[in-house]
Amino acid sequence: MFGKMKNDIKEKLKEVREQGLYKDERVLLTAQGAEITVAGVAGRKKVLNFCSNNYLGLSGHPEIVKAAKDAMDRWGYGLSSVRFICGTQDIHKELEAEVSGFLGTEDTLLYAACFDANGGLFEPFLDEHDAVISDELNHASIIDGVRLCRASRYRYKHSNIKNLEDVLREASKARYRLICTDGVFSMDGDIADLKGICDLADKYDALVMVDDSHATGYIGKTGRGTPEYCGVQGRVDLITTTFGKALGGASGGCTSGRRELIEYLRQRSRPYLFSNTLPPGVAGATLKALKMIEESSEPGKKVSENADYFKEKMKVSGFDIVPGNTAIVPIMLYKEQLALTMAEKLLDKGVYVTGFAYPVVPKGRARIRVQLSAAHTKEQIDRAADAFKKAGKELGIV
Ligand SMILES: *Cc1c(COP(=O)(O)O)cnc(C)c1O
Repeated sequence: MFGKMKNDIKEKLKEVREQGLYKDERVLLTAQGAEITVAGVAGRKKVLNFCSNNYLGLSGHPEIVKAAKDAMDRWGYGLSSVRFICGTQDIHKELEAEVSGFLGTEDTLLYAACFDANGGLFEPFLDEHDAVISDELNHASIIDGVRLCRASRYRYKHSNIKNLEDVLREASKARYRLICTDGVFSMDGDIADLKGICDLADKYDALVMVDDSHATGYIGKTGRGTPEYCGVQGRVDLITTTFGKALGGASGGCTSGRRELIEYLRQRSRPYLFSNTLPPGVAGATLKALKMIEESSEPGKKVSENADYFKEKMKVSGFDIVPGNTAIVPIMLYKEQLALTMAEKLLDKGVYVTGFAYPVVPKGRARIRVQLSAAHTKEQIDRAADAFKKAGKELGIV
């Protein structure tokens, strides 16, 4: 059988390459941080990194690394079990309580990844009597999670409250209605209108679920995420988020929210029941990350200031950037090949960024997504902005 499939797959791979959509992975030779070494760069020169989700600069932070080591010394390397058999340690319970305290929720359930949190969220609660109502730009893991349940699926236009209201009316016959949205949309860096969403949820009797992966730790005055930013803490029924971005960046995720919902997920959510949870080192480091954020909101402020500073410089240079209030700054180039060429040129100039093309973003909406970090210095941001200007001139963009 494989012979036939091999030829088909080779053909498909060729098409991906011809469309300029083939994704090569660059290999880092150092820890994650503002400056990294990347394999294939001549002379192994350090490059500035502007494409990780290391918003608070915690990924390579010595205190986080130490917390992971300490947790491993105390609790070992792994559990060799799912949680309900013999895979729950006190550090997992401590982390769940800490996340609940941090997010202002009633209870929290850990997963190996936020992808799993979303994968296991819908099927336990919803069946053919129910309706899931999704923003059209929601993350792939929400889309996949919804596919695993038998509820009717509705989509509303991206962040379009008027359209959401129409859809809620359409879904009025369902037993339960669940609105789900990303808190921060990763490709455009915009924040969901959670106030508008929660108001409509009240009016049309719906639940609200927010995936705050790109927000937890740095969006909102004290880093509690988009519910804090939008002033709706306590009105969101379920929050999913990752520990693999601002909170140290290793891996892991959770679902947090109303007590009975979390209790039921603990009984029924398949990625929770049938997959190991976080290794203790990751649990310990994530705990440390949350405590650091609670102690000081300075890094959260710094990343926002860095983003504003970079955006201003890019505007002055004449780049087309998507406006927003997060550390994600999309530089629009529209053409697939141009975005990839631009990224190559920037790497030559010592700035590592990634071009995003279809299918990650819609066709004809290719871009370079720049992500700022609290770890960036002004001087590093200046260097990056200068490199953009030079590369943009060489390619006739600005
Ligand atoms: C990154 C991301 C995820 C996946 O998180 P992992 O913990 O790496 O699986 C899920 N949802 C959204 C919105 C994300 O941005």
